[in-house]
Amino acid sequence: MRNLCKECGQRPVAINYYKEGKLFYRSKCDHCASGRNEGVPLWKKAGYKKKTACDKCGFTSKYIEQFNIFYVDGNPTNCRYTNLKTVCANCQRILHKLKLPWRQGDLVPDQL
Ligand SMILES: [Zn+2]
Ligand SMILES: [Zn+2]
Repeated sequence: MRNLCKECGQRPVAINYYKEGKLFYRSKCDHCASGRNEGVPLWKKAGYKKKTACDKCGFTSKYIEQFNIFYVDGNPTNCRYTNLKTVCANCQRILHKLKLPWRQGDLVPDQL
């Protein structure tokens, strides 16, 4: 099993090298390891803050790690607050199933 990148948590880690029939991985994905990830997602730059309640089902948690940001129109450059939703992990799955245009925003380390 390939781990997810410890920086973005979104992409699988990059392959580091292959030795004696075994693959060795890095702790970060290609994207983060190359430093192309600027760290601060657009929605955050726009001043939007993750809520502690799901905009879809109303689930609340004091752990914001349980929520992700979604772009309602699927356009990650549209950072108007009406286009941004805080969605819990459960609803995230449902969104996927419903095939809505909603697109997940970039993850950020929560303890910055
Ligand atoms: Zn990454
Ligand atoms: Zn929800």
